[in-house]
Amino acid sequence: MGLSFILLLAVVTLAAWSVSRDEAKKRRVAAEFRCTKCGSLLGEDAVDAADKVHVEQMKQLREQHPGARFRIVQNIKAICTVCGQQYTYDEKEQMFAIYKRRWGRDSSDEI
Ligand SMILES: [Zn+2]
Repeated sequence: MGLSFILLLAVVTLAAWSVSRDEAKKRRVAAEFRCTKCGSLLGEDAVDAADKVHVEQMKQLREQHPGARFRIVQNIKAICTVCGQQYTYDEKEQMFAIYKRRWGRDSSDEI
């Protein structure tokens, strides 16, 4: 194995570790965050719900535009499973905020 391969492996491993750590942090915040609309705890289910919607949207896009490549950022990071309120997540502040759709600039709005 060349040195460059080992370095690449280290960078990829570090990046993956960082992503999974951020994901775990987001889920911990969700477990303690109360929906500002209905007062329910968001919990991991809300994060899963948002991920599911994103995966579904990507699948639809791929079906509608076969062969096209997309670079789409997932803006909605949690969806309250009780009332459906959508939230973004600020990784710096480690908190959720109500998702507001920016007209014409957002490609991941609801289906
Ligand atoms: Zn709610």
